[in-house]
Amino acid sequence: RKFEDAGLHPVMLENVKLAGYDVPTPIQQYCLPTIFKGHDLIACAQTGSGKTAAFLIPILSKLMGKAKKLAAPRPNPALFQPGISPNVKAEPLVLIVCPSRELATQIFDEARRFCYRTMLRPCVIYGGGPVAEQITQLQKGCDVLIGTPGRLCDFINRPHILTLRRLRYMVIDEADEMVQSDWEQELKQIMSGGDQEEGNIKYLMFSATFPKVARELAAQHLANDHVRIK
Ligand code: AMP
Repeated sequence: RKFEDAGLHPVMLENVKLAGYDVPTPIQQYCLPTIFKGHDLIACAQTGSGKTAAFLIPILSKLMGKAKKLAAPRPNPALFQPGISPNVKAEPLVLIVCPSRELATQIFDEARRFCYRTMLRPCVIYGGGPVAEQITQLQKGCDVLIGTPGRLCDFINRPHILTLRRLRYMVIDEADEMVQSDWEQELKQIMSGGDQEEGNIKYLMFSATFPKVARELAAQHLANDHVRIK
């Protein structure tokens, strides 16, 4: 199997080549067509398997075809002056939730490569990082948001910062790590956010193991016909 035969948006195919990826890894071979077809999925995958690109490539490739229509309006840059709060909520199309700042930053770096020369703007937020700076980044416009559970909930619960109502894809990465690090409540709140009309949000869960809480969350949010990839 080749990336050329995967039906990618031409800009995505170029970005994949620029990243130096020649052939899809096994997890990518299975995830690409599954996500393209619009299925929810649970994938059992370790770090190093190429799992990040396995969800980023198909999701962003699909959105590239619709970016003009979907991308949130760009707020007037003049609003962003010191001391002025522009009061614009970020409305990401993709949310990627992961357990650590390191992983969030890695996913962000990869998202940036794949969003190159498109309308899609990635953003990253994490606990311990500068709150005001992260809020400004979000309010400047964010289509693809990568974040850790605590900071995400914090921003969702504040007025005028972040809403999940336009969300199309929610990726839960290293679900087991988050459950084990006591992010269960935050994860529940995040997964229940957004447009709850059935099928409007595609849920993709990645984990090395599936402890009970992760299985419960999957049962609650993933479509009945979700695909399992091991
Ligand atoms: P991950 O499992 O997502 O942490 O990815 C592990 C590493 O593999 C990262 O450095 C990626 O940039 C790299 N990678 C992912 N997919 C491919 C591919 N198809 N070909 C070559 N390298 C890749």
